[in-house]
Amino acid sequence: MSKFRRLKGMRDLFGEELAKLRRIEGVVRELFRLYGYEEVLTPTLESFELVEAKCGEEIRLRMYAFQDLGGRKVVLRPDMTSPIARFVASELKAKPLPIRLGYIANVFRYDNPQRGRYREFWQAGFELIGSSDPSSDAEILDIACELMERLKLERFTIKIGHVGILYGLLEEAGFEQREQYKIASLIDKGREDEVIPLLDRPSVPRDVREAIKNLFEAKGSPEEVLNVGRRILSRWEKPYSCLENLSQILDLISYRKADFLVYLGFARGLEYYTGMIFEVYVPGFDMAVGGGGRYDELIRLFGGKDLPAVGYSAGMDRLALVLPPFEVEKLPSIVVLPVGREYTRTALEVAARLRKNGLIAQPNVCGWKLSRALSQASKLGYKYAIIIGKEWRENRVAVKDLEKGVQVEVPSEKVFSATSIEDFSEFFPP
Ligand code: AMP
Repeated sequence: MSKFRRLKGMRDLFGEELAKLRRIEGVVRELFRLYGYEEVLTPTLESFELVEAKCGEEIRLRMYAFQDLGGRKVVLRPDMTSPIARFVASELKAKPLPIRLGYIANVFRYDNPQRGRYREFWQAGFELIGSSDPSSDAEILDIACELMERLKLERFTIKIGHVGILYGLLEEAGFEQREQYKIASLIDKGREDEVIPLLDRPSVPRDVREAIKNLFEAKGSPEEVLNVGRRILSRWEKPYSCLENLSQILDLISYRKADFLVYLGFARGLEYYTGMIFEVYVPGFDMAVGGGGRYDELIRLFGGKDLPAVGYSAGMDRLALVLPPFEVEKLPSIVVLPVGREYTRTALEVAARLRKNGLIAQPNVCGWKLSRALSQASKLGYKYAIIIGKEWRENRVAVKDLEKGVQVEVPSEKVFSATSIEDFSEFFPP
């Protein structure tokens, strides 16, 4: 095998795969416009300290981190929320609130590569900064739903919870913040059963232990689960108020007839979340196609104002995987073939003039004889060939319909007055 191999987990994006990503990008940009999110593009490299601060254990261990030539420890960004929080904290101090920012960016994580999991992948995101009102959480959920609908992925589920519920109870149980994050990371990986034994310390009050165990069972529709939650949490003010916050958000977004799956034991590995959290799923695909939540402390942590924020990040590569297949559209185009070397410059010039008129045109740049160039042109799928030969001196060119195999001679002025490929059909009498 060649030593010049592509790196594991990296992809060369091409053809249908790339076309799908571009289509998603188009839909996302349309949402930026409609919802009024200003696009931002931050650097691919960030300082290690910035990203490490709150990304969480999972990502911390999977960062592409290295020293640059100046001896600084840097990372290829593993997500966009921290860079955006940094940007808002340092650059947008005077911007009136709320701030709505959108991004489309590649991010890097040293994940275990498989279908739907890569080491470089694309995220499209929306960050709404400056409000802690539940209506801002609802707006972010509305965007997540709208994106799915516009991608014609109408069947989706939003798994939703509130990190404050679990953190609140873990605090009651006497767990330090670090331990709380560790537990959240286990839950993020679906390893709730490993959390239960950790609760079996004598210092953890029995009712708190029972309540946490019950959270892991509390999964279902909002109507079912919110009431169960009120019963489980009635004794603890902080977690109870988080549940009420979640309930308000769900009530505000209820005009969307989306399938919300409430999970009270829900936690995510990213440590910057402080409130509502959610993930988007489509049937038949077990990885989340997007995730988001509230992060009220990150911007202050980066030296900015005390700005609450909530955001959503869609995994574009996974969305591309679940999009229905489609053919990459190949637009009809024209090839300009010089009959001999002496017409090469003219062919370049003719192609340039056609493109000025909005036609898709390429000259033959291989120096081939006409017969070879014509047979190659059919294989490459051009619709017409313009052949430049001695007639050029009388301001005439030959035009060949490569699909029908018919050739005509026309004044070059007619070719230059064409503004669309349809005009070429007029050269061929029926
Ligand atoms: P996160 O920043 O972890 O909330 O991730 C947001 C979204 O990015 C996830 O919901 C996935 O759709 C996507 N994602 C995360 N990790 C990967 C990966 N390794 N490869 C492809 N997509 C990913």
